[in-house]
Amino acid sequence: MKNLLIKQIIDAMKNKSKYPDYMWATLKWPEITERLKIVDTAILPCGAIEQHGPHLPLDVDYFDANYMAIKVAEACNDPKPFVLPPIPYGVSYHHSEFRGTISITNNALSAFVYDIGMSMAHNGIKKLVILNGHGDNEPTLNYAAQMINRDAKIFVSVDTGETSDIDLYNLIDTKNDVHAGEIETSTTLALRPELVDMSKAVDETLDLDNEYLDFTSVRGVNWYVHTKSLSKTGIMGNATLGTAAKGEKMWEIMIRKMADFVETIKNTPFEKLFQNRY
Ligand SMILES: [Zn+2]
Repeated sequence: MKNLLIKQIIDAMKNKSKYPDYMWATLKWPEITERLKIVDTAILPCGAIEQHGPHLPLDVDYFDANYMAIKVAEACNDPKPFVLPPIPYGVSYHHSEFRGTISITNNALSAFVYDIGMSMAHNGIKKLVILNGHGDNEPTLNYAAQMINRDAKIFVSVDTGETSDIDLYNLIDTKNDVHAGEIETSTTLALRPELVDMSKAVDETLDLDNEYLDFTSVRGVNWYVHTKSLSKTGIMGNATLGTAAKGEKMWEIMIRKMADFVETIKNTPFEKLFQNRY
């Protein structure tokens, strides 16, 4: 009898670490009903399945957004924000000249995210943090975020790395390192080295030589281009400089900064987030 009780306690503890109570999809409806009384914040990871050069897997943006959302929630204080199931696909038409890329339209993605956001609001979520792993999803996610805010009047934000971009650029030596280069090679080496083929990593550093077209310039404008016009391999940056050690440092910074942001939003009363104040 006593042994049975101990076994039940151990099983419950194992389940708690295997299925943490902030993972939306593995909760039961009565559990989520209770938890929604104490947590009003949810993170929605958005990724892409698209070419990442000849040396990285197609799922970098999807895997990384999901990994980061879970780590960010883990780093937050209790009660932790909910983590929603990730959206795997994104707007990747510009990589379509490279096989493996799966692209959905801006309309499809924005409608999908809008529906999820409205459903979140219906469930009682008041603060939705869209954690975006793919830069070119950004205009579409912002469009959806505005429509969710317009119709549901909840707080919605989109983050594509701005909370730590500046810190990452300080860590690397490559200019315009925007895709499958020093940053993404490092972050993937840190988490899944078995999926990285460094023998295929090359340097395709972009020399845009124009402060307005430069992707990482503070004076840069938003402009759109098919990757094939800029890069033979699909890499935009210098993949040969990627290391696991740099990647670990990057993850540490990205998770800390984003957790700090989410924690701030979570702890700020909804009325103080400038919603419904008129
Ligand atoms: Zn990527």
